[in-house]
Amino acid sequence: MSRATQALLGAYYHGTAPYRAWWNRRAAAAGRAPVMILFYHRVADERPNDWTCPREVFARQMRWIKSRFDVVSLAEAQRRLREGNSRGCVTVTFDDGYGDNVDFALPLLVELEIPCTYFVSTHFVRHGVPFPHDVRLGTPSRPNTMDELRHWSARGIEIGAHTRTHPDIGKITDRTRLHDEIVVAGEELQQSLGKPVRYFAFPFGLPANLRPEAFEIAYDAGYDGVCSAYGGYNRPGDDPFHLQRIHADPEMLRLKNWLTVDPRKLGVPRYRYAAATTPAPEPQTTS
Ligand SMILES: [Zn+2]
Repeated sequence: MSRATQALLGAYYHGTAPYRAWWNRRAAAAGRAPVMILFYHRVADERPNDWTCPREVFARQMRWIKSRFDVVSLAEAQRRLREGNSRGCVTVTFDDGYGDNVDFALPLLVELEIPCTYFVSTHFVRHGVPFPHDVRLGTPSRPNTMDELRHWSARGIEIGAHTRTHPDIGKITDRTRLHDEIVVAGEELQQSLGKPVRYFAFPFGLPANLRPEAFEIAYDAGYDGVCSAYGGYNRPGDDPFHLQRIHADPEMLRLKNWLTVDPRKLGVPRYRYAAATTPAPEPQTTS
């Protein structure tokens, strides 16, 4: 971030602080405090790219989040969406499955008792090959191994599915392929971990990378929820099956700006998909 941008954002952040504090107090009193879900990719100091967060920044962000919010699991986030939320809460998630995360990020999360759902793409884990998006940029990194996932799963990190091959789901029209990337990916993980895999995260996660049929397939397969990644706050009363996530910006000021509720970002429209999760009407009984 340039100095000028930093100064402008700083002025905006501090200038709107009283409004944010008022908004957050009012939302909390009404049981409608936001449920905020962050996504990270890779925490490391070597081979930085746009989806790498330096170790020191990650540690600072985790400590700040813990001091300001309830840090909760995805299941607790969903409970609050259903039943109401009287305190701003944050959930930490990771996407892809970068090997570097076992050196610093995951041990720190366990040490600080911060729940985390860690989404992995099974093809890369099983075959130990780097992600194509990193190869293209000349910054290939090793993915996690299944042994690492088992190790951290046993220490409380929840493992979630992030497809098999990390495709753009928005472009896949073939239902068999969708089933393979969404359902089979989860089954493979479940078998290897010996634990249920309850959540699925869309690769890329922007509205163009989502698909209504994919939500239906995930719902029918028994996933508890699916995550997008285009930003946006979740509020009690929103559909708890679709969890909107916010990019965990390595710039501390941008992260603080999001998590203290930026009024400009309250208007991010939720992706609309077929009402897979709408409960069927109560059957009419005649007595
Ligand atoms: Zn991804």
